[in-house]
Amino acid sequence: MIKFKNKKIYGWSKSNYSKCNYLETSNVEQINEVFDYAKKNNKKISLRAGGRSYGDNTLNKDNIVLKYVAEKNIHSFNKLNGQILVSGSCTIKELLKFIIPKGWILNVSPASQYITIAGAISNNVHGKNCLAKGYFGDYVEEIEIITPDKGLLNCTNKENVELFHSVISGLGAFGIILKAKIKLRKIKTIKINTDINYVRNINEAVEKSENLTKNYEYNIGSLNFTRFNNRITDGKIHSSNFAEEEELKQDNSEANFLIYIINYFLLFNKLPIIDKITEYSFSKITSKKISNTKKIIENYYSMNFLGDKYLPLYNNFFKNGFIEYQVIFDKEYYLNAIYEIEILMQNNNYSSYMSSFKNYKASNDKYIFGLSKNGYCLTLDIPFEKNKKFEIFIRKINEVTIKYDGQVYFGKTPCVNNQEFKEMYKNYNQFGKIKKIHDSNFLLVSEMTNRIFTDIYNYKY
Ligand SMILES: Cc1cc2nc3c(=O)[nH]c(=O)nc-3n(C[C@H](O)[C@H](O)[C@H](O)COP(=O)(O)OP(=O)(O)OC[C@H]3O[C@@H](n4cnc5c(N)ncnc54)[C@H](O)[C@@H]3O)c2cc1C
Repeated sequence: MIKFKNKKIYGWSKSNYSKCNYLETSNVEQINEVFDYAKKNNKKISLRAGGRSYGDNTLNKDNIVLKYVAEKNIHSFNKLNGQILVSGSCTIKELLKFIIPKGWILNVSPASQYITIAGAISNNVHGKNCLAKGYFGDYVEEIEIITPDKGLLNCTNKENVELFHSVISGLGAFGIILKAKIKLRKIKTIKINTDINYVRNINEAVEKSENLTKNYEYNIGSLNFTRFNNRITDGKIHSSNFAEEEELKQDNSEANFLIYIINYFLLFNKLPIIDKITEYSFSKITSKKISNTKKIIENYYSMNFLGDKYLPLYNNFFKNGFIEYQVIFDKEYYLNAIYEIEILMQNNNYSSYMSSFKNYKASNDKYIFGLSKNGYCLTLDIPFEKNKKFEIFIRKINEVTIKYDGQVYFGKTPCVNNQEFKEMYKNYNQFGKIKKIHDSNFLLVSEMTNRIFTDIYNYKY
């Protein structure tokens, strides 16, 4: 008898939640029991790991949410070639704690250390060095997965190749990742030299980033798309490289007590007046002028996990949560597309509290749902409203994205319907074909995959 917990599960940006039957397990036999139970009872199973995806990626109203938590996360490490075998449930935090003192680091890491290896593979995540180093999947050498139809399988780029490339970026739709072998990168320091460059607007961000990315591996811009920006999207680009000085000591990467107090205070911005003050403060911080270039010395944690350290409760700041619209365009379309999105926001009186800018390269086209743009992204954190006006606004932004051949990123943006998905991503039919081989009863379904693969799954929640 499987003991599910009745639980309310949220997407990280808190704009949606569902009540579900929740189960955490470390037991492979129990995973098979859950498959049988779901088949017999016409239930769907969504997989959840760190829960850091922003939207309905892992939600499953009145159905099963399954979290695989291995008893042991780090299995073996080859210090000669930097290959590490870890469980899908291993967080980036645990992994870094193990590898940094030994002089190794991940080639690609997203901006939160609470993300797991299974989550990083399923959304094929990327970091501030996307242009230089690509995507997380590029460094995955082997995946051990359990699928509903074929059981336990090993996949690499030589064995079960099609499944291997589908699990990377496959949105948790094919099976449960138990383990993965990851290729690491040698470092002699976690010290980082960062140059911060002021940019007067998004056009200048694009222009300056072209030069900065030639000289710096990690680049991230923050731009002002708040209501208080006087229609000037100014901001800063942080550009970083590893320093020369040797230093492999661990950092305390957690937010401290004082930071939590400040964050708790900001939760009051659910009151409209405080909400305005918060948006105003984000505007001031983003647009704060600095003299041309400011240089700082920091470490890998403060460079890569700034949000974890200083805004651990950011996702709770918004009354009804927020939608992060993360959209990527090829270079030639970027500025026109963003201009139209900005006009749409202004006309509808929506704004973004925090907005970022990053350079992208197209991912390997073997992945089932890769980001295929050579260009730039913009992320917009727009307070969510559950009403018709917001819904229409989202459809209009998606229209602009499609008009300029853009893509939204699924780890963060939960507002694309079946038709829009087909316009943004290729391989829709290919997905259906591979899904039928490994999960012919469509057991692995989440609210998100049901939303975008409507005419393959056709499940009625
Ligand atoms: C503060 C913050 C910063 C972020 N920064 C970045 C960034 O810089 N770059 C970036 O690319 N993304 C970023 N993200 C998004 C995040 O990296 C992705 O959403 C990631 O997939 C979350 O992983 P998770 O471990 O939290 O998994 P979850 O969010 O729980 O799940 C993610 C996906 O993995 C699937 N899944 C879960 N467990 C398994 C399993 N065992 N086997 C197979 N599939 C499974 C789920 O079904 C789901 O589709 C950020 C998120 C946050 C909150």
